[in-house]
Amino acid sequence: MYDYLIVGAGLYGSVFAYEAKQRGKKCLIIDKRHHIGGNIYTEEIEGINVHKYGAHIFHTNNKRIWDYVNRFAEFNRYTNSPVANYKGELYNLPFNMNTFNKLWGVISPAEAMQKIEEQRNAAGITDPKNLEEQAISLVGTDIYEKLIKGYTEKQWGRPAKELPAFIIKRLPVRFTYDNNYFNDRYQGIPIGGYTGIIEKMLEDIDIRLNVDFFEDRDELTKIAKKVVYTGMIDQYFDYKFGVLKYRSLQFETKVLDDTDNHQGNAVVNYTDRETPYTRVIEHKHFEFGTQDKTIITEEYPSEWEPGEEPYYPINDDINNDMFKKYKELADGEPNVIFGGRLANYKYYDMHQVIGAALVTVEKEFGE
Ligand code: FAD
Ligand code: UDP
Repeated sequence: MYDYLIVGAGLYGSVFAYEAKQRGKKCLIIDKRHHIGGNIYTEEIEGINVHKYGAHIFHTNNKRIWDYVNRFAEFNRYTNSPVANYKGELYNLPFNMNTFNKLWGVISPAEAMQKIEEQRNAAGITDPKNLEEQAISLVGTDIYEKLIKGYTEKQWGRPAKELPAFIIKRLPVRFTYDNNYFNDRYQGIPIGGYTGIIEKMLEDIDIRLNVDFFEDRDELTKIAKKVVYTGMIDQYFDYKFGVLKYRSLQFETKVLDDTDNHQGNAVVNYTDRETPYTRVIEHKHFEFGTQDKTIITEEYPSEWEPGEEPYYPINDDINNDMFKKYKELADGEPNVIFGGRLANYKYYDMHQVIGAALVTVEKEFGE
């Protein structure tokens, strides 16, 4: 008999399992995939740590969370500075003085602000209600057309007018010559990859891989006093209020033998509408690798269908309203904790997942 059955060996489930173990609780963690780590899983290929589910850069402003994650790995000094490729023209991201200079030839922040102000006024946006209006209001129409519209519409498979404004607010807009993609105080990549973090968290915990909770739900529920569920919330309730929408991704990974440096940067975004992938990741650059070969991954977005991996919740009004109904049911389940990106239907980053898991731990163990 276990104290907790944890469904999902991703970051949320693993933080919970680690903390429960520290308190003398017995946990079984299961995952339907063949590996631990969920979407932060990295695998070493040709001496390079490959981010199997897309680029993962750890960043946080919260010292407590930074100190917490540093217990499980040493982090390097990597700073994410993606480059955008729009039909062969290259721009620095996030939107900053380097981007504005390349686009308009402006040199001072005042000139850049004036340019954006002119474009915002011409578009007549005062109270942005969706991603398109929010983007134009932040950076003007030129940047929206070249660096946002195409990327966003292929990433999300919907017109930018139908997407929530908060998605674009993830990206900084800066009037300094600073290409750091994040504003957070702490940032880096764990030396040796992310899987090592999860391995440490799950040391001495029973793990069963290739086990889908729904294939043996009754038996699995019986072997523990409580369940921590990190899968899709609508699936848990048999989709009774409908199917929540997600975006999925296909990752095409290639080992390149003929070069040791394919694109000169870890992340290059293709912001035109026609290129079918959104970004190309060159994994070695996350760790300043000096291997003879290199490995790249192209990310192809698609609408999620049952049987595929759900990566991004689509937090528009329809789906958020449906989620609220599931959340009410979830709140009424006394012996089940729902957590993580899928069960909370939230566009969480890693530091937010750790934060949310630690809040649950405090509630659960009364500290
Ligand atoms: P998951 O990692 O999804 O783990 C859930 C686990 O549950 C999965 O392993 C799944 O197989 C398992 N599971 C589901 N259903 C069942 C079932 N029925 N039975 C058994 N097991 C089940 N965050 C950052 O901070 N920085 C980044 O740069 C960043 N980049 C990202 C890039 C991409 C492409 C994506 C998709 C996400 C990115 N994130 C990033 C977010 C980060 O991946 C998540 O915050 C984090 O991995 C979520 O952890 P989780 O445990 O909630 O979910
Ligand atoms: N985005 C964009 N152009 C870019 C990069 C991002 O328009 O070159 C938009 C797009 O809508 C994306 C959102 O900003 O979904 C958030 O970007 P982020 O890099 O945070 O996405 P993630 O890493 O979560 O996929």
